[in-house]
Amino acid sequence: MKTPRKCGDCTFCCTFMTVTELSKNVGVTCELVCESGCSVHEKKPAECGSYLCWWRDPYNKFELREDDRPDKIGLSFHVERDLRHGGVVICARVDSPRRVQVGRSRKLIEKVSKTYGAVAVTHGINEGWIFRHGVLVEHAFRDELGLATYDDDHHSEAVQRWITSDK
Ligand code: SF4
Ligand code: SF4
Repeated sequence: MKTPRKCGDCTFCCTFMTVTELSKNVGVTCELVCESGCSVHEKKPAECGSYLCWWRDPYNKFELREDDRPDKIGLSFHVERDLRHGGVVICARVDSPRRVQVGRSRKLIEKVSKTYGAVAVTHGINEGWIFRHGVLVEHAFRDELGLATYDDDHHSEAVQRWITSDK
């Protein structure tokens, strides 16, 4: 059995994750973050312990490189339940919409999008997504990424096509 990579001082998910036990909402950086990572690492809440980004996941087929650690590229992939439409979706959580437009982040998003048909690029605060060329982008980012808005029907169809529960 392969061992997951260690987070080290990465705390990228400590902002976008909801941690019920700590009453921490999405988009708020956890107060337990410290310079070396999580200050309660050995006793962190189960929700934190069970989160496995693709970079840590030794079975993830994208074989992310050592220097693809989420805090370094501003991007973390994981699979998430789509509560509105059912199934699951591939999410790319980003810290800044601009960072997904260039370099390694963009290449990874394109690669994942080609493999699965689509990927949701999201900041996690606003759960509205826009589908375009295989990439779903939060409504809030549309201007910054120069994307057009689709109507709700189109959005729903796109999400249905994008459900990847059998992958
Ligand atoms: S994003 Fe991944 S590597 Fe970074 S703290 Fe979260 S689980 Fe660890
Ligand atoms: S408890 Fe630790 S792992 Fe969990 S969100 Fe806070 S800093 Fe991150």
